[in-house]
Amino acid sequence: MPTKPKLGQNFLNDTEAIERIAASLGDISGRTVVEIGPGGGAITGALAARAGHVLAVELDHELAIWLQAGFSPDKVTVVEQDVLHFDFAAASEAAGERLRVVGNLPYYITSQILLKLAASQAALEVAVLMVQREVADRITAGPGSRDYGLLSVTVQMYGTVERLFTLPPEAFAPPPDVHSTVFRWRFAPRFVDLGVEEATFTPFVRKAFAQKRKTLANNLRAAGITPKVAAAAMAQAGIDPHARAEALPIESLAALWRSLEVERIASTGI
Ligand code: SAM
Repeated sequence: MPTKPKLGQNFLNDTEAIERIAASLGDISGRTVVEIGPGGGAITGALAARAGHVLAVELDHELAIWLQAGFSPDKVTVVEQDVLHFDFAAASEAAGERLRVVGNLPYYITSQILLKLAASQAALEVAVLMVQREVADRITAGPGSRDYGLLSVTVQMYGTVERLFTLPPEAFAPPPDVHSTVFRWRFAPRFVDLGVEEATFTPFVRKAFAQKRKTLANNLRAAGITPKVAAAAMAQAGIDPHARAEALPIESLAALWRSLEVERIASTGI
């Protein structure tokens, strides 16, 4: 079957990597696993051999038909759908458990899939995902590193992340132009512990990281926060007035959000 580059179809053909991906989900016997973009079923087979049931969400009609024909419906259900429209909460409820997720992702929608999983976190336990290596660098980066930024903080607010391994282009057919890295994401959101509001914290972090070369104080000013309020909130959060957002751990960004929230309530009364 000819591949469709527009759908990010680079099929994994490294048997050892396939086994490592399936094993990275932990003990999945009797459990329901959602696979994002099963394609020709390279990972699906390894999952079906270990899991209770696999829900394989594939957008490509021809692949979905072909894939279902190769597996017993008792073991694998191919859902022909855009994963961005897949209802993880309903699938979790039907399975009676939080789901495990796996996917060699279609790279053209990596960010949207990560945001979809973050929004569905209550239905999820763990995800093992293959992404472009540079994206994994950003997802797993810590403060002070070149790659640390909005993506790191956004993903890490929803759980812990670990890099597992990297594969060269030759591990796929056709080979992509980039290296690929598998990482594991254990869902455990931090909003309550850090005393921040989910709906406004991410937009706040986006503003804090808006311009890499600017200091945090300047980015806050550009976001409409007066220099006096920004300076007071940074001092209260124990942040150096000349710091850049890239140097701050999530805990400091949360402390700053809380200080600004106190200022906002004090000035508006709401
Ligand atoms: N899992 C297979 C493997 O490792 O060989 C295929 C991975 S390939 C990188 C990405 C797969 O995602 C393709 O099968 C593609 O058709 C599918 N896909 C692309 N966009 C999708 C979407 N929006 N929703 C679900 N699947 C999608």
